[in-house]
Amino acid sequence: MGSVARRHKAAALVRDGRVSLQSTGPERVHLDVKEYQVVYHRRKRRWSCTCRYNTLTQSECYHIVAARLFLDKAIKEKREGKEPQGKDL
Ligand SMILES: [Zn+2]
Repeated sequence: MGSVARRHKAAALVRDGRVSLQSTGPERVHLDVKEYQVVYHRRKRRWSCTCRYNTLTQSECYHIVAARLFLDKAIKEKREGKEPQGKDL
C-alpha cells in the first residue's frame, strides 16, 4: 500500500470514529483502532500495533497513521480550547 492510500484510509478511520483513546501514562499511550490496539512507547518514541502487518514487518501500518492523526487532532483541539474526546492527554 502506498503512503497516500494509507493516509487516506487512516483519515477515514478517524472521521468514522473508529479510533479511540484508551489510556495515557508516563510511558505509554494506548489507542484502539478498529479491532487492533495501537501503543505509543514514549521513551523509545516508537509505535506498535497488534495487526498482522505491523507484527510481521515492523512497518508503520495505517492503524498507526490513524492513531497519530487522532492524537494530533485532539492536541490541536485542546490548544484551541475545545474539550478533546475521551481522557485528558
Ligand atoms: Zn496495524
